[in-house]
Amino acid sequence: MKFGTKAIHAGQEPDPSTGAIMTPIFQTSTYVQEAPGKHKGYVYARGKNPTRTALEKCIASLEKTKYCLCFSSGMGAADTVIKLLKPGDEVIATHDLYGGSYRMFVRVFSNYGIKFHFVDMVDARNITKFLTKNTKLLWVETPTNPMMNIIDLTVCSKIAKKNNLILAVDNTFASPYLQNPADFGADIVAHSVTKYLGGHSDVVMGALCINNDDLREKLAFIQNSCGATPGPMDSYLVLRGIKTLHLRMEKHCENGKKIAYFLRKHPNVDKVFWPGFPDHTNHAIAKKQMSGFGGMMSFTLKGDKLEDAYNVVTRTKVFSLAESLGGVESLISHPASMTHASIPKEVRMKTGISDSLIRLSVGVEDGDDLVEDIAMSLQQ
Ligand SMILES: *Cc1c(COP(=O)(O)O)cnc(C)c1O
Repeated sequence: MKFGTKAIHAGQEPDPSTGAIMTPIFQTSTYVQEAPGKHKGYVYARGKNPTRTALEKCIASLEKTKYCLCFSSGMGAADTVIKLLKPGDEVIATHDLYGGSYRMFVRVFSNYGIKFHFVDMVDARNITKFLTKNTKLLWVETPTNPMMNIIDLTVCSKIAKKNNLILAVDNTFASPYLQNPADFGADIVAHSVTKYLGGHSDVVMGALCINNDDLREKLAFIQNSCGATPGPMDSYLVLRGIKTLHLRMEKHCENGKKIAYFLRKHPNVDKVFWPGFPDHTNHAIAKKQMSGFGGMMSFTLKGDKLEDAYNVVTRTKVFSLAESLGGVESLISHPASMTHASIPKEVRMKTGISDSLIRLSVGVEDGDDLVEDIAMSLQQ
């Protein structure tokens, strides 16, 4: 089956008791047993819920993996991956990754004896310089947030296989419509479902997609033991959101391209970071591992002044000033003071998150209105 059909049907059957075409919201915490231990596979809703099961099957099918586990947030999903590790273990992670992931790695898990190396992976061979006998996990984000770097998943996967590491790829920015990291050898594909999969800025959720049975068992055990599972109402909203993922992503790509080229020729704009430009550093890799370039981009202003960036992000009328991304509505944000404020200035400057860097999540509104809005906000 092709993507658009799976987005609408995978994991979902008409309800056997009524014929309802939509998966019911099983708003229950527990399930009645006929005799102790005699049940239909559902015991307690932290472990399993039928609405969530339908969603997990649907996302697994879109990521072309055997299994998916859904979590109460993207961070809940990432937390579960790190809990596969023990004190003394080391992780090599992309250096310009999502600010919340950086915060959790450094400020939570460093206290548990896990060591993190943040590495520039634009040339993925750099990873090998940080390998030690304790390295257990490669945590890769591509495209990266907010610099839109592209990381070669084939190279990452070769290094992971050779050194017996788990390769986890945060696929939030691309969504399964534009990129399937498991095709390139990822062992775990992580999502903040909050973003493109949910698509309507009304749910916080995470997911992990896995092929290996043993790895799935371990992750499901941690998930059920630690409890970061999503509720049935949210699972339903995401099932509903995913039905238009393919349509939304096409429009995100179309509008994204329009805005990226508009920004690039604007006199007040310095650099535009978007993997669809033929002169983007890893454009060739993007073309190889992605089927489109999406609606995420960032740009800097000439002069790199914080006040100028503040003016731009507060003047737009269609783009809303907000964190998050991937919804139908366009958002604008200022990473240095918002999503990446928890990263020390020296560290963020090194990765390119300068004072005037502005990030856009280009939505699916009319493209002309979006261009007009950005044009107005950039006037000095
Ligand atoms: C938002 C985000 C996360 C965290 O997900 P939540 O659902 O907010 O917990 C992780 N990775 C990336 C790339 C994100 O954009």
